[in-house]
Amino acid sequence: MATKTTPEEIDDSKLNDDEVDEEEFDDTPRREVHTIEPAKSIRSSCQGCRGLIAKGALRLREVFGSQYSRDPVSRYYHLGCGVAHVPHVFRQALADCPHELPDRAALEEQLAEVLTIVDAAQSTDETSVQYHTFIAQMCANPDDEATQLVFADWLQEVNDPRGELIAIQAQKQDSPNDASVLERERELLRIHGTCLLPRPLPGRVAWRRGFIERFQLTDGSNLVRSQLQTLFAHPSMALLRELSVEIEAAEVLVSANLPALPRSLAVLELDVGVLGDWTSYGSALGDVSALVDTTESLRRLRLVGHANIEVMAHGKLVALELRTRDARERGVHAPGALSLSVAARITKLSPQRLPALRHLRVEANAGLEEVCHAVVSSRLLAQLSRLVLRGQVSNRAARTLAAGLRNGPRQLTVDLGDSRVENEVRQLLEPVCDVMVQQRQQRNTAPPPMPSGDWLV
Ligand SMILES: [Zn+2]
Repeated sequence: MATKTTPEEIDDSKLNDDEVDEEEFDDTPRREVHTIEPAKSIRSSCQGCRGLIAKGALRLREVFGSQYSRDPVSRYYHLGCGVAHVPHVFRQALADCPHELPDRAALEEQLAEVLTIVDAAQSTDETSVQYHTFIAQMCANPDDEATQLVFADWLQEVNDPRGELIAIQAQKQDSPNDASVLERERELLRIHGTCLLPRPLPGRVAWRRGFIERFQLTDGSNLVRSQLQTLFAHPSMALLRELSVEIEAAEVLVSANLPALPRSLAVLELDVGVLGDWTSYGSALGDVSALVDTTESLRRLRLVGHANIEVMAHGKLVALELRTRDARERGVHAPGALSLSVAARITKLSPQRLPALRHLRVEANAGLEEVCHAVVSSRLLAQLSRLVLRGQVSNRAARTLAAGLRNGPRQLTVDLGDSRVENEVRQLLEPVCDVMVQQRQQRNTAPPPMPSGDWLV
């Protein structure tokens, strides 16, 4: 345990370092604590460049033990030289620095570059074990804010910049308009970008409390399995909750090119582009069963394009969203090979394979009558609590649904979206289910709503 040393206790015979200058003796050195302080004479020289440090200029003072001395010994650096030669010392001194540094931002930036910490918590075995214990706890309880803040404190103790990022983003949740909080958040991400942000980053991220909560892959040309594997292994992705993959007309089978997804994932959106040619191989998502298998926390799955969902099994999936151009149209799941239409796939969904499924959403420009028929003939109907239909729901489609629901579940809410739905459709459905019709809204060209947190990159 370090004891406080008063000036009277210092025995100058023990200070043998020739770099030490005389004002050492009227200072109050604290053991092992590095500081940034004004030079008191012109006699101190820099350990980095060997040049003199001007009197009054701020200098870094490194304090360390010596085998020749019981008392700590000091060395001095110009601030820039300190960053370059002893970055860890500089970082600690900077954290406690009471002085106004005119070029602080530049020094911090330089420091981050020199340190290039990938993850300070991985720096030793001991911290790494503790780090992964925290991550496991937070994966299991994503909303446990107390653990997150304990984790943030611990990270700050081991000098991991993510600690401050967690703290500042927690403050941001409480005061989203606080300018100083927003400024510090931007600053942290800029200064520590090399360790906090995966590179390259082929998309956009939304943060929540020090980790990337949502990642939206927008650059389809980068759908390369090994690159995505590296991306998902980045420490900032350790608690990824939402992944959105948008590929426009890429001649790749999306599901086959995705690596195993992060275990923390609750929302997965795969989109091969609504403007693409739906009858081409390029618009195929392929068999998503294997992907879904690896994501045990998955709750919501959105598929835009043709995907083999009929054999998909997941014990916790609550919401399934399907979007297609024409629900009657068969897709192409391999060059030259036709697959089922979306309506035919819905018929095959099974309660045994999807026991937790409660919400089904289908968006289609055409073929909703076939969708209604598929829903009422699927064994899934009994467990659904919400059916969302987007597109033109015709009277015939509504009659099909009403006939199927006559002896079906009474708790079903059918959400018909916008007011283009004719009154007759509502009147057909109202006796057999709860009907929701919203006011006229934007046509289905808007992207899905963003989660909490805003887009910073
Ligand atoms: Zn120097």
